[in-house]
Amino acid sequence: MSSIRKGVAIVTGSGQGIGRTIATRLAADGFDIGLSDVGSNKEKLDALSAELAVKYPGLRLCVEVADVSVEEEVKALIDSVVKQLGSLNVMVANAGINRVAPLVDATLTDWEAIFSVNVRGTFLCYKYAAQQMIAQDQGGRIIGASSLAGKKGHRFLAAYSASKFAVRGLTQSAAIELGRHRITVNAYAPGPIQTAMLELLHEGTAKHSEDKDGIYDKMKRTSAVGYLGNTEDVASLVSYLVSPEAHFVTGQTVAVDGGIFFD
Ligand code: NAP
Repeated sequence: MSSIRKGVAIVTGSGQGIGRTIATRLAADGFDIGLSDVGSNKEKLDALSAELAVKYPGLRLCVEVADVSVEEEVKALIDSVVKQLGSLNVMVANAGINRVAPLVDATLTDWEAIFSVNVRGTFLCYKYAAQQMIAQDQGGRIIGASSLAGKKGHRFLAAYSASKFAVRGLTQSAAIELGRHRITVNAYAPGPIQTAMLELLHEGTAKHSEDKDGIYDKMKRTSAVGYLGNTEDVASLVSYLVSPEAHFVTGQTVAVDGGIFFD
């Protein structure tokens, strides 16, 4: 771990998957970390916190349960992390959900659930992180989670894909407004990254199509590199985007997909 403290980062949805690895990477980079996820993942957050505390003595950590789709919980998350760790310099709005269904069977309930977490949740994290960063007047870094499905539509993913396109619009607009405050706003757009969410997509695709092999082979075949990614591939991009060197990169949604989609 870097011995120079670089500031404080919040990572939402950090109980597992991509968020967990981003939190671990930013801790290694020298950030103090506010770990956050929904209440049902509190034990995972506590376990990660204990693991990081042993690995990186001197690292300051706090665990905060928050549902990102609830405005009061996002405000309380940021207030509590700032109170405990002193500031907010990086917000990684990573939390997201997916549901897999053909358009003609997709329900409004699923549509609203996806938009409440992926779009409203990201908006709330951006908004309240930006308020705190502007008040601190030290610049900052805001990062969102888009997707390959936010660059190109995918079958059985109408709501999810629409929500991840929305993250790009939000990211571009926020970058324009916040640039003069030395706050950059970017998003990552992962392709197939091996997590529980990808497994859900694989199973859903197999269930709803004649393609019983799901998506793994197809994703490998259609990528330039020929293999799936892992969570470190996304975390290393985030590590760069939050670094001082990335001050001139803003408003971007950066693909990490092994070369499936080219902007
Ligand atoms: P994951 O393993 O499902 O982890 C997402 C985490 O967010 C989970 O702990 C989840 O809790 C939590 N979460 C769900 N709803 C929340 C809410 N309302 N408030 C706070 N936390 C909430 O997913 P992942 O694969 O790591 O994905 C992370 C992000 O990358 C997501 O935004 C996803 O859309 C995006 N992404 C992933 C891939 C991929 O291939 N894995 C590709 C493109 C984009 P529960 O488990 O209880 O729901």
